[in-house]
Amino acid sequence: MRLLSSSVLCYLFLASSAMAAQPVPVVTTTTDIAAIVKAIGGDHVAVESIAKGYQDPHFVEAKPSFVRVVNRARMLFNVGLELEVGWLPLLIQGARNPSLMVVDLSQGVSVLEKPSGPVSRAQGDVHPLGNPHYWLDPRNGVIMARRIAQQLKTIEPGDSAYFDQNFTAFESDLTNRRKRWEEQMAPFRGAELVTYHKEWEYLIKWLSLNVLGYVEDKPGIPPTPRHLEELVQTMQQRKVKALLASNYTNPNVPKSIADKTSAKLVMLASSVGGEESIRNYGDLFEAIVGKLAGALK
Ligand SMILES: [Zn+2]
Repeated sequence: MRLLSSSVLCYLFLASSAMAAQPVPVVTTTTDIAAIVKAIGGDHVAVESIAKGYQDPHFVEAKPSFVRVVNRARMLFNVGLELEVGWLPLLIQGARNPSLMVVDLSQGVSVLEKPSGPVSRAQGDVHPLGNPHYWLDPRNGVIMARRIAQQLKTIEPGDSAYFDQNFTAFESDLTNRRKRWEEQMAPFRGAELVTYHKEWEYLIKWLSLNVLGYVEDKPGIPPTPRHLEELVQTMQQRKVKALLASNYTNPNVPKSIADKTSAKLVMLASSVGGEESIRNYGDLFEAIVGKLAGALK
């Protein structure tokens, strides 16, 4: 009897220490957030992203397999500003996970194009609360990482020092690389370009570039032939060198515009995993800056 109880105790002890070593299940809406969570949480978290890096994050199918992922997670990080409004509420509702903590990372970021008056999506604008593509400025990546570290500490306070240490390493690496990207792009300050969707505003502001126009005159709405005609004219007059589009965009329309003008069509990954070589958050800017500098030369 005594033997049995001690072996039961021993088993319980082993089981509880094994559980303590289990990584915390975290889910993110996008791969960029997942990459930052991985950098901060290391092997103490098991992170999964719902959208893939080569997908349009505005439109993701709320599959049952994602519902299960959200059901098991302890924390969910999302971009916010209604980027995921078409699919995330469905997943959260379906997951029936009352202890899930949902963290909207747009809080703490300086949001561009924040509306001053009442918002309406009557015309289908997919950005009614301001531009949600803020992860495309590496300085915002640091803000996101700091918040992620703070939030992970709330669920795993014992790992606080570990998260802090990873944050410091992430910040210093990204800051060093950012300075190099800024140097690489310095010759192109003020360069004029056109973009397909209104998703490069943070990148453009960071690098002091100028947007002359958009293929989508209203974000998320297919352009009218008349708008395209005017855009082509402007691009010809100003001799625009680059037309930027995310690589999940159907290339037909931007290609036809580029063909009528002197602009190079630059299809860029806008998220980690958008190209196979882009495995972490820093890789994303390495790829974007490399392609942009090549096109503007
Ligand atoms: Zn958008």
